Amino acid sequence: MPEGLGTEKEGIEAGFSSFTPAPGFLKVDLFPINIPRCSHCVVSMSRQPSNSGKTRGHNQQASTTGSNDLASLFECPVCFDYALPPIMQCQSGHIVCHSCRQKLSMCPTCRGPLGNIRNLAMEKVAMTVLFPCKYSTNGCPVTLLHTEKSEHEETCECRPYCCPCPGASCKWQGSLEQVMSHLVQSHKSITTLQGEDIVFLATDINLPGAVDWVMMQSCFGQNFMLVLEKQEKIDGLQMFYAIVQLIGTRKQAENFAYRLELSGHRRRLTWEATPRSIHDGVQSAILSSDCLVFDTNIAQLFADHGNLGINVTISLC
Ligand SMILES: [Zn+2]
Ligand SMILES: [Zn+2]
Ligand SMILES: [Zn+2]
Ligand SMILES: [Zn+2]
Repeated sequence: MPEGLGTEKEGIEAGFSSFTPAPGFLKVDLFPINIPRCSHCVVSMSRQPSNSGKTRGHNQQASTTGSNDLASLFECPVCFDYALPPIMQCQSGHIVCHSCRQKLSMCPTCRGPLGNIRNLAMEKVAMTVLFPCKYSTNGCPVTLLHTEKSEHEETCECRPYCCPCPGASCKWQGSLEQVMSHLVQSHKSITTLQGEDIVFLATDINLPGAVDWVMMQSCFGQNFMLVLEKQEKIDGLQMFYAIVQLIGTRKQAENFAYRLELSGHRRRLTWEATPRSIHDGVQSAILSSDCLVFDTNIAQLFADHGNLGINVTISLC
């Protein structure tokens, strides 16, 4: 739906709440963040039997040095990522990673033909080597077997954060500490309201096509992004998805609960949940309807002249 994206982009900039802008946006205190620690790896390490003889962990770096040296043997000469099984080699024995191999017509090391030779010995060694996480340069101390690597990297706390604005228009990535200043600099039109109990007013909900309404709410020393997304389904039905995400880690988000409420004449529709971390983003939650979901008819029941007010309450839990 490339057409939808275009409208979506406009939606972010133009479709936000027209509520009186709070003066506090620039004054919002950025909360202190500790140097990212990988909570996932602690879990994954504790799964290892302690008598396995394989040492791994934050305080066992010295003993994995040998393993890191071994890991460097698997470095792809083109992208410096690791060449992991199935490991293919050229006729002279040089290896190249799977994704680079698909783009190459000859060996990048000796320019010989790439052929179709598998290096089973390297593959066997790869099974015993602990590879550093892809985000080790961002401070992740974890080393893992290659079979556990991609699963960890998907949830790694050191993975860069993407811009939390919905839609695909902003390609920004950076650390958690930089997210708020990015929003202030690049998404100036987003309104911020202070307080734990506010009204998120989405104006012109009858605008055609896919539209996002975005607003910031700051309370408890944290910043939350409220998102209302309208999607047009294939059958012409329009669906609304409302959700709150914390500008913070998954762990921080677990300390909060949010409630979204539509209220109208003798009617009330409420949704309560844990805010999403912007590390996870809202799209997967929207896809699985893990948010406040309603259709156009329901929106009309609660809207006033095309404007829909959603009561948002954030609480500590
Ligand atoms: Zn490569
Ligand atoms: Zn070669
Ligand atoms: Zn990691
Ligand atoms: Zn952005």
